[in-house]
Amino acid sequence: MTPEERDAIARAKERLDRLDFYPRPVDIRRVRIFHTPWLFKIPGFRRFTGYEFGPLILIKRPLSQTSDDLIVHELCHVWQSQHRHIRMWVSYLYQGYRNNPHEVQARAAARLTRSDPSVAGASRTRP
Ligand SMILES: [Zn+2]
Repeated sequence: MTPEERDAIARAKERLDRLDFYPRPVDIRRVRIFHTPWLFKIPGFRRFTGYEFGPLILIKRPLSQTSDDLIVHELCHVWQSQHRHIRMWVSYLYQGYRNNPHEVQARAAARLTRSDPSVAGASRTRP
């Protein structure tokens, strides 16, 4: 694990630790970030810039070009999966992606912990 990867995970955990979505804080012992551009060329994945798979965070761009907000978002999914793994995956089957409560919560995690409020304002205008 590179220092950059370790620092990115630590920064995201520090932000999530300010939230009380779940009783236990996110466990980052097994969390890794991998740059997997090939994944995001596969139909069904093209619309994503990051993807969480268990303790793994897969990113489309190199970590140096990836925002902390995206890491917070994906680490929030890791956190969710540590608390309600089965329900989470099933929910995507019947609730879809955009308005899925897990997506809403992960977007909120990034928004609520952002230090620059102007960035938060900009993201609200996105669809
Ligand atoms: Zn998400």
